[in-house]
Amino acid sequence: MIRGLREIEPYVAGSQPQGKRIIKLNTNENAYPPSPKVADALKAFDSADLRKYSTLTQEELRQSLSAHLGVAADQIILGNGSDDILSMAFLAFFNNDEPILFPDLTYGFYKVWANLYDIAYREVPLTSQFEIAPSDYQTLNGGLVVANPNAPTGIYKPLDELEKIIQANQDVVVIIDEAYINFGGKTALPLLEKYKNVFITRTFSKDASLAGLRVGYGVGSPELIKVIEAVKNSLNPYAVDSIAEKLALAAVDDWDYYSNNCQKIMEIRDWFTKELAAIGFEVLPSSANFVLVKPTLAAQELFQYLQTKNIYVRYFPRVERIKDYLRISIGRQEEMEKVIMIIQEVVS
Ligand SMILES: *Cc1c(COP(=O)(O)O)cnc(C)c1O
Repeated sequence: MIRGLREIEPYVAGSQPQGKRIIKLNTNENAYPPSPKVADALKAFDSADLRKYSTLTQEELRQSLSAHLGVAADQIILGNGSDDILSMAFLAFFNNDEPILFPDLTYGFYKVWANLYDIAYREVPLTSQFEIAPSDYQTLNGGLVVANPNAPTGIYKPLDELEKIIQANQDVVVIIDEAYINFGGKTALPLLEKYKNVFITRTFSKDASLAGLRVGYGVGSPELIKVIEAVKNSLNPYAVDSIAEKLALAAVDDWDYYSNNCQKIMEIRDWFTKELAAIGFEVLPSSANFVLVKPTLAAQELFQYLQTKNIYVRYFPRVERIKDYLRISIGRQEEMEKVIMIIQEVVS
């Protein structure tokens, strides 16, 4: 018997099935490849540079993001994916006795970090329409986390509604997770001028087709950035590797390419939503690159049937409120046409 071992219920990430012929719609990866400029930057990377440590503060990438987003460079911190940023933000910002609040249905990792770091939390139920109700966030709390658009619902909260939550909670940090913001939502970045307690997280994984590169960032007041930098320097100062920094820089430089892809994904999403609705499936209104769907047959049955056709989607049997739903990422048009065809076969 070994003493001192940690017991923890981990976050269960979506599976990563391998193979060329599969249609992978289970972890919201982008349907399109990264920008050709990213491929060029990878070819141009000199492996001799790997002898040295990466930069500590990603000055060049921060400058580029600063110009791209219209915020000062000292308002940005880079990390090893936005999971890294969020995890550090929990450590940096949630040191109150009162519980932090987040919706009962949201990114599953929030609860895992709260447990891992012994942060008290309370899950606030979404409305019956799977909406965040600002009035539910007006109680004493130790901080808030809101994904906008939310996951796995895909539902976007308009900024004036989101601002009501922020306005009522100016003495704690409000984290806004914008992993899916470029698929139809409006960013909360302009609110940073007014509220020094807002921290926005972003990732290159979804809109920039770079999930495997592991780059994410946080944006907030210089005061908040200093605190989270101190946490970063207490954990893993070189969290962003040299290759990732160069490739992310190339991605920001070719943002028109990505805007265009996001636009295409939104069009495919809206087409796919209409097709599913015509079959009789209930589809939540999504502003993300996935849809949450309630099929006319059992979710588990459809999930398994799709898998026999090499189509992988996400099924949450242990999450009571959505155990009858499937989350389907939006792939390329021909992939989604195939999904519709197979669903039509199974329901007819
Ligand atoms: C995908 C996702 C993240 C994490 O993205 P990284 O790949 O770690 O950058 C964070 N929040 C939400 C809501 C996500 O869906």
